[in-house]
Amino acid sequence: MDRPYDEKKELIPDTCNCGRGRLHRGFKEYVTKVNGGVLVIKNVPALMCDLCDEAYLTPEASREIDKMVNDFREGRLLAKPIAAGEVELKMKEAA
Ligand SMILES: [Zn+2]
Repeated sequence: MDRPYDEKKELIPDTCNCGRGRLHRGFKEYVTKVNGGVLVIKNVPALMCDLCDEAYLTPEASREIDKMVNDFREGRLLAKPIAAGEVELKMKEAA
């Protein structure tokens, strides 16, 4: 076989789990809870479905996020404070 084996390509799927969408590269905002606080990481490279809103992080992005979350947990990450709100969804009781 002459075609060079592209390991990176093999790892990245081009179709979404929804079965119909195609994935394209983009950036998303990653939000996670850390120690009861909220950490928002912007500009995270991800593969996004063009049909549903599903986004898949690249392995490299996941690794970077893990590092940042750790740093944030240990107070080593300089993060800009943002306003956050928390509410609980109250469902109306079924009649
Ligand atoms: Zn999809």
